[in-house]
Amino acid sequence: MIEFKNVSKVYPNGTYGLKDVSVKIEQGEFVFVLGSSGAGKSTFLKLIMHEETPTSGEITVNDFKVSSMKQKEVPLLRRSMGIVFQDFRLIPNMNVYDNVAFALRVTGTPTRELRKRVPFVLDLVGLVDKAKNMPTELSGGEQQRVALARALVNKPSLIIADEPTGNIDPELSMEIVDMLDSINKVGTTILMVTHEHELIRRYENRIITIENGTILSDRPDWRSV
Ligand code: ADP
Ligand code: ADP
Repeated sequence: MIEFKNVSKVYPNGTYGLKDVSVKIEQGEFVFVLGSSGAGKSTFLKLIMHEETPTSGEITVNDFKVSSMKQKEVPLLRRSMGIVFQDFRLIPNMNVYDNVAFALRVTGTPTRELRKRVPFVLDLVGLVDKAKNMPTELSGGEQQRVALARALVNKPSLIIADEPTGNIDPELSMEIVDMLDSINKVGTTILMVTHEHELIRRYENRIITIENGTILSDRPDWRSV
């Protein structure tokens, strides 16, 4: 699913983003990537999404050889993943339904399919009742659930959540993690990046801790040991 073999990323100014990282994440895992600011978490995600290319090493994601892929293959890679951002990135002048539907329209999904899939994912995140609401009429937690529905609607095999609870009230943060957990239970791989130790301490998932561009620790999923 995701494999890094001796991956280093050196930025043009000489700063190391990652140093000789090797790690493997299997299909169906739910992994937290933990680390303080500047640790290398974003670099890790950018390499997975082919937003940055490694200076050395090999990266494989969803059967794509990301480290040596051609630019024209990148859209195919991106379509195999759903991405959730800290700042939601909803389209402000579209209602909830259209924000989710838009993700399908851009991939040319037929309207008939769209009418089944959008309500299906809105139901999954508990927002069917808010389908006609505009993003500004929703709480932060609800906006993040819309973003999650949008990430899911193309049926990606991998969801990448980049600090998804960073702009949400602490009480609602667990709700988002629980939702990711239920999405994971139906087979989607989840990679959630965070610096919130307190939040993830309550969960038994695998935790990959990154510091200074290297993997400081890799705690296995306690449910499977
Ligand atoms: P995190 O996401 O954990 O905060 P980053 O991956 O953003 O960490 O950063 C890792 C290191 O790489 C930091 O020292 C950061 O300053 C550096 N870095 C990140 N992006 C760039 C860039 N475009 N150019 C130079 N250095 C960068
Ligand atoms: P069925 O078994 O009749 O397909 P489901 O409840 O599994 O019913 O799915 C209802 C609709 O939602 C189907 O069109 C299905 O393809 C679609 N669907 C299922 N999972 C997802 C998903 N993760 N994202 C978007 N659409 C989905």
